[in-house]
Amino acid sequence: MADPARRHLLILGGTTEARALAAALADASSSAGARVTSSLAGRVAEPRLPAGEVRIGGFGGPEGLADWLRAERVDAVVDATHPFAAVMSRNAAEAARATGVPLLALRRPGWAPVAGDRWHPVPSLAAAAELLPSLGRRILLTTGRQGIGAFAHLDGLHFVARSVDPPEPPVPASLDVLLDRGPFTLDAERAVLREHRIEVVVTKDSGGAATAPKLTAARELGLPVVIVERPPLPAGVPVARTVEAALAWWSAQGPDPR
Ligand code: NAP
Repeated sequence: MADPARRHLLILGGTTEARALAAALADASSSAGARVTSSLAGRVAEPRLPAGEVRIGGFGGPEGLADWLRAERVDAVVDATHPFAAVMSRNAAEAARATGVPLLALRRPGWAPVAGDRWHPVPSLAAAAELLPSLGRRILLTTGRQGIGAFAHLDGLHFVARSVDPPEPPVPASLDVLLDRGPFTLDAERAVLREHRIEVVVTKDSGGAATAPKLTAARELGLPVVIVERPPLPAGVPVARTVEAALAWWSAQGPDPR
């Protein structure tokens, strides 16, 4: 039974940063005895579990999340979901508004191009699909299992899709699946591009070091990279760029913000 007197932080997770935040807070000296719950959507069959208390599965929209925040006496929420988990971020902002619980978005910075990069920024997966036939015929898709459907109609192209779990239909007619999860090394990324004779790489602007080596490997080979830009964060939500900044924000919420 949870102690109602303890401060309670909810981390909306599914990212390296969310796990790092939970790990830092699992250390009793930095959490000062607070209760910390990490929440996962349940998309991945065998997720890497964060330290501490974990709950898995949707809340049932912003109202369901607001109910959960009240029932579990949550003092603050850190939305450390992936930059492309836009629905969850919107729900978190709505639930925070409805309940008055302070909300912080923890978002690692996006990637920035360097000399030699051949990047094609696009606003969506659909826009990436539209652009692909003009760039090449053998495509490495690293947009995640759920994004593969956006490319299913492109019959003339061959896709190599990398995802943690196998994709479900619809998928492109010509498709090889590489089941894998980051971090990826530069050598491994070079090998993937060469072995599959990749001509174009498609990625979301996820940011972070774990999946950045594909960008270096593509640059070395002079390959174009179609990069899907991030959706905007809900207005009015403060943003931390690092786990340290998120820890400082949580400390600044005070010993008993209720
Ligand atoms: P989404 O489209 O923004 O959210 C769809 C629904 O999934 C939400 O309405 C919510 O259901 C549930 N959900 C999402 N994140 C949740 C969480 N952390 N805890 C509990 N429920 C959650 O989300 P998504 O893009 O499918 O991403 C799902 C998860 O995978 C997130 O945790 C995200 O951090 C992680 N992830 C996503 C990507 C990506 O490219 N999108 C990449 C890597 C990891 P209810 O409305 O029922 O609450």
